[in-house]
Amino acid sequence: MLKFMSLAVKLQLNVHDLNNETGAGNVTDIRIMEFLDENGNKKEAPAVSGRMLKHWHYEAMRALINNGSYSLPLCAGCKTGEPIRPGEVTNGQLKQVPKPEQQILSSCCICDIHGYLIAQAAKQEGEGGISSRRTSRAMFSWLMPVLGSETAQKQVVHTRVSQQEEIAEGEGAAQMIFNKSYASGVYAFVSALDIDRISLVELNLGSSSSYAVGDDNGRKDRIKAAIEAYRYMLSGQMGASLSHALPHCSPLEVLVLYSEGGPLPFPVSPMYSDYIKKTKGLMPEHAKVLYWGKDTPEAISEEEKRNTISDIFNELLSKI
Ligand SMILES: [Zn+2]
Repeated sequence: MLKFMSLAVKLQLNVHDLNNETGAGNVTDIRIMEFLDENGNKKEAPAVSGRMLKHWHYEAMRALINNGSYSLPLCAGCKTGEPIRPGEVTNGQLKQVPKPEQQILSSCCICDIHGYLIAQAAKQEGEGGISSRRTSRAMFSWLMPVLGSETAQKQVVHTRVSQQEEIAEGEGAAQMIFNKSYASGVYAFVSALDIDRISLVELNLGSSSSYAVGDDNGRKDRIKAAIEAYRYMLSGQMGASLSHALPHCSPLEVLVLYSEGGPLPFPVSPMYSDYIKKTKGLMPEHAKVLYWGKDTPEAISEEEKRNTISDIFNELLSKI
């Protein structure tokens, strides 16, 4: 049974708008992040926050559950995609409802895996006075340009026809003009999934830890849905403006580390040229390595190389 897994991903994205987290007025500025190259020199380029990546992992899990691929419970907030966790509908309104951790975990697998923060602490027996916060089992870096690669960005003018204005003020006023920026580049991100702590009740004050959901009572399916959600992210499904600016995505390299023994260090980011060698040099003995890419890098053995990304996912899922 898997206890921990992580991914180090390199992909090319052409003409994307994934980092469009804020839009003000009729101009949407692309998010630019400052960072250092391998010589320590300051660079800047469009980047996408880890919050955005985490949100899209959540969206993929939600879709897998709502369309019936996995039969798993969701609270009202997670079911509808509202960031109110754990949520319940009372008198027609979606509200955050403080409950003991055990109950929250049993009734929602996304609250379990992606965590939550309840500002108003539950005053239930055994939890009085303890702030109610669960850290995410899924962790994400920012999506950053691979160092040494080119990045491109361009602002374009869009025209939107507003039917309402057309009716109100005639044809001349019907066109709304706005500017948007799009970026292209070769990007990297890392993510880790702390599988062993999925469904684990953290506030269990007893001596031994316990799971809110049994392995064969849904916990295994929760883990599978969380792993499967990454597959969608590798297709570029991980940011804003997907309705009209799906990125032209091409995965380039996928390095997966997993362990059936215990937690692992995070992989070195594929934004660095020697990330595979460094990652392997950092891992404890119980870490297993899987790799997919166009070429086989020197640091990857024949046993570690897989022919398709699906081969990697199927292998991970078979160990749950
Ligand atoms: Zn929830």
